[in-house]
Amino acid sequence: MQNKVVILGAGESGVGAAILAKKQNFDVFVSDFSEIKGHYKDDLLKNDIAFEEKQHSEGIILQANEIIKSPGIPDTVSILQKAKAKNIPVVSEIEFAARYTKAKMICITGSNGKTTTTILTYEIFKNAGLSVGLAGNVGESFAKQVAYDDFEYYILELSSFQLDNMYDFKADTAVLLNITPDHMDRYDNNFLKYVESKLKITQNQTQNDYFIYNTDDEAITTNINKNMKAKKYPFSIKVDVEQGAYLEDEKIAFNTNETYFEIMAKDISLVGKHNIYNSMAAALAAKVNHIKDPIIRKTLSTFKGVEHRLELFQTIRGIKFINDSKATNVNSVWYALEAIETPIVLIMGGTDKGNDYTIIKKLIRTKVKAIVALGVDNTKIQQNFKDIVPIIESKSMDNAVLEAYKLADEGETVLLSPACASFDLFENYIDRGQKFKEAVRKL
Ligand code: ADP
Repeated sequence: MQNKVVILGAGESGVGAAILAKKQNFDVFVSDFSEIKGHYKDDLLKNDIAFEEKQHSEGIILQANEIIKSPGIPDTVSILQKAKAKNIPVVSEIEFAARYTKAKMICITGSNGKTTTTILTYEIFKNAGLSVGLAGNVGESFAKQVAYDDFEYYILELSSFQLDNMYDFKADTAVLLNITPDHMDRYDNNFLKYVESKLKITQNQTQNDYFIYNTDDEAITTNINKNMKAKKYPFSIKVDVEQGAYLEDEKIAFNTNETYFEIMAKDISLVGKHNIYNSMAAALAAKVNHIKDPIIRKTLSTFKGVEHRLELFQTIRGIKFINDSKATNVNSVWYALEAIETPIVLIMGGTDKGNDYTIIKKLIRTKVKAIVALGVDNTKIQQNFKDIVPIIESKSMDNAVLEAYKLADEGETVLLSPACASFDLFENYIDRGQKFKEAVRKL
């Protein structure tokens, strides 16, 4: 019998996959090595799905015809090595769920800007009145939506971890925002392996599909398959492109075979160069799917942005407090510093992911008046910046915000943009951003 499916990991994607697999009449078993969160356990019970927690029962798991793996689990864990030795196929929830929908897939990946661009694209499609779902790394799992709703279009945010376990999946529209070092620990510290994983977004594309990509990004332009069949739509803020999007003086121009359309850069609601890129990518994805220009223009100029991404939270006594807790790598901090025009007191630090701080040193020197280092171990921040700016160390958000407030003057900005993961002091980046806001409220 070819119907035994085992799902590893009972979070949003795993539970979604289990619900869909059950609906498709598979014999489903869910296994999580940690404790399963209450509401996910309820979902499994409600749907009569067999599961275990705090263990992996090899006897059951290695009988599977296929394993669906949550993106958080690395391939190196012992149970997956054993599955590999037995030639059991291991796929991601996205690969599995895509088999059960005929919807058009608009898929977005990159090292930074995925969530912002995915939600912006989704808003444009929704404003156009289309039947569209938002999934992947954001919101409700793709599999659960395929099981319960199914839409005509999905806007999917895809991480490299998801792409790693995708084989037959095809994006009708693929968007690649940028590739800069991140998660090197999961790619044997080999940047090219990570690049290859991101480029899987174009796999299986045909001449009827679209590939939208950042042509200012060398890691992309030197590694893309020059013979790919998909129609290419590059975007750039440095050079003009024949077909795609580019910056011309103060305008962003969009050129597709069918139409030309432009919008003033100042009319885009999100600030910073990175958001020009994100807006170009989202608008091109909308244009190749035939959404009308006025809808694209209106959404680009009214989009409020996403929480924890360069979010202007409050202004107190003329000091702006900006929450950029989602800036978990150095590149995203570069864009934050670049976008802010006032002197900055920067709260940064956390769990280091092998950061190379070279690219932000110049901006730190010119724009940052002091750093508040917020982490259990601040050694690397000290080593890199102690000769450039004053550094104050802190071990709690309340204290860090208070110190930053004391250091900032009217007309300046306190920016939380950590360049690091949050797990040393917080549950995740959302918890860190919320604690920042609570601390600001207390001032
Ligand atoms: P992701 O989902 O890829 O992590 P987000 O949209 O959540 O991306 O943004 C993460 C961080 O990166 C935020 O600090 C944001 O300001 C910054 N950022 C957003 N878009 C870009 C981009 N195109 N290039 C570099 N940094 C970006």
